[in-house]
Amino acid sequence: MANHLPEWKQEFAWLKESPSQTLRHALKNLERAYRNFFEKRADLPRKKKRDRGDSFRYPQGFEIDPINSRIKLPKLGWIRYRNSRQIPGLAKNITVRLSGGKWFASIQTEREVEQPVPVATSAVGIDVGIARFATFSDASFLAPLNSFKKYEQRLRRYQRMMSRKVKFGNVRRDFLHKATTTIAKNHGIVCIEDLQVRNMSQSSKGSAEKAGKNVAAKSGLNKSILDQGWFEFRRQLEYKLNWTGGTLLAVPAHHTSRTCPDCGHVAKENRLTQARFLCVECGYENNADVVGAINILSRGMQLLRDEGQDTADASAGYASTARIACREEGSGLARRRKTKPASMKQEPTEETLRVAA
Ligand SMILES: [Zn+2]
Repeated sequence: MANHLPEWKQEFAWLKESPSQTLRHALKNLERAYRNFFEKRADLPRKKKRDRGDSFRYPQGFEIDPINSRIKLPKLGWIRYRNSRQIPGLAKNITVRLSGGKWFASIQTEREVEQPVPVATSAVGIDVGIARFATFSDASFLAPLNSFKKYEQRLRRYQRMMSRKVKFGNVRRDFLHKATTTIAKNHGIVCIEDLQVRNMSQSSKGSAEKAGKNVAAKSGLNKSILDQGWFEFRRQLEYKLNWTGGTLLAVPAHHTSRTCPDCGHVAKENRLTQARFLCVECGYENNADVVGAINILSRGMQLLRDEGQDTADASAGYASTARIACREEGSGLARRRKTKPASMKQEPTEETLRVAA
């Protein structure tokens, strides 16, 4: 398609206003979008519109002058910018993006770094959900991201559309970055469910012969998945754990919320309500999301053992992790003890940290 560019420039004069390397890069993006579609990783590419994903990339031909806070872009010349951070390494490309009425330049650089050795040695399982954004196997959790909707509503009253978009976007980004940075710093191994957003999107549509009765609920869930930014959460976790030398393990998601971490009994009756888990076999009781997170951690540890890695007694096997999780709650009697209400945020205790380690 790049060979057609000269013709197209004759036909559409505005194409000439753009440097040809950014046009070629847009064609690369288009090619990748169609490849992802044909290889069933993504939906059919949507047509470009003004105001949606307004960005373009310069793979070369730019200059950066951080001392004088200016940047030279082909066909635009020197432009002043506010430098947000140091630019280490060799700049490879610059992406310019319009967001909420402001222009941002992201500079991608390349440099050699030492293979980091993880400082944190603990392992944690994370269950993502609607009521809570993320629940950890140590029973701590993060509030849902859409709790920021109240800010959005307040802002709608006071602010013009553009500035609201900026603020809301910033609050979300800030939330995700803080959460993923903290997790990556504190844990050497992070286990999450391997959620497939595309599969979920498809199942919500239902099929002609068996139109699912949960279609509305499921599409609501999908919207929430997209709203919540779980995939962005995972993406950030992955690259931040790379920085800290940690590991992200995506584990199979089936039955994580229905399996008893104590005795291994799988039944949907184990989870009669959204919030509580009560094993019909052995009586083990806990917050349902914490159960999910414990099971996710156990599966992650199992994955490591399947690879022949020594997870030591620290990480525990399926059975022992479960037993430790129960010891956390106390044994026998304490199983029926009332745990803290879901609305109270629990700090990880020394016990749970040791267990996780
Ligand atoms: Zn049980």
